[in-house]
Amino acid sequence: MTTHLSFVLVSTTHSGNIGATARAMKNMGFSDLRLVNCCSHMTKDAIGRASGADDVLKAARRYSSVDEAIADCRVVVGTSARDRHLAVPVQDCRDIAHEIAQLNTLPNTEMKTALLFGRERYGLTNDELDRCTKLLRIPCNPEFSSLNLGSAVQVVAYECARAMQSITAAPEALEDVPASAEGMQHFFDHLQRVMVATGFLDLENPRNLMRRIRRYFERNRPSEKELNILRGILSSTENPHPPKDLP
Ligand code: SAH
Repeated sequence: MTTHLSFVLVSTTHSGNIGATARAMKNMGFSDLRLVNCCSHMTKDAIGRASGADDVLKAARRYSSVDEAIADCRVVVGTSARDRHLAVPVQDCRDIAHEIAQLNTLPNTEMKTALLFGRERYGLTNDELDRCTKLLRIPCNPEFSSLNLGSAVQVVAYECARAMQSITAAPEALEDVPASAEGMQHFFDHLQRVMVATGFLDLENPRNLMRRIRRYFERNRPSEKELNILRGILSSTENPHPPKDLP
């Protein structure tokens, strides 16, 4: 099965969990593992827990930031055991798996999706969750809702694989795909530059402005063409060419 789905582990501290992740992924037919600031992943413990999925483990790519790891992804799904009152609503794992499966069958090969998994101790930070276009939770005992990292990957991978198998008709290619995470990052940098230049944003007193803006645009991530228009508007404020016959 070819998939455009990447599993991204953020700051994992126990290499055994990375091995368990590789095993869970391979069991369900996935292979793209990305590691952001994780502990070493070729340890005895990791290889032991991978139990034959060493190929997935060996092929894992390491990154020093979430932005770098998800740069090519157009849908970014954060996973969380808790409901954190974030701008993006938290959805049931099964529902998101269906959405991911549908995206995966699109003929647009650039439609890459990232699934982000957080630290064993405290999950993903708010900054990391702000980069997500969707949030997923595995519904479980509300008084004991935090799964072991490897177990969480197993459940999500299982639901995604099942959902992918259930799709029969291939949808038509999208004419205009959502912007990539890298494109969004360039847009936010550009917007910040313009807001500082106009005096709208005071970096000494930022009042959470960039976070609010980021959340708004991630919740409604624009397409590539829409993002080009927004970038064009920003550039026009930096280099204005007003029409000559303005009163
Ligand atoms: N105490 C942390 C949980 C850390 S568990 C918290 O409350 O967020 C490590 C990771 O496993 C989480 O960051 C998440 O990626 C995944 N995980 C654990 N339980 C989960 C659940 N019920 N739903 C979705 N993801 C879960």
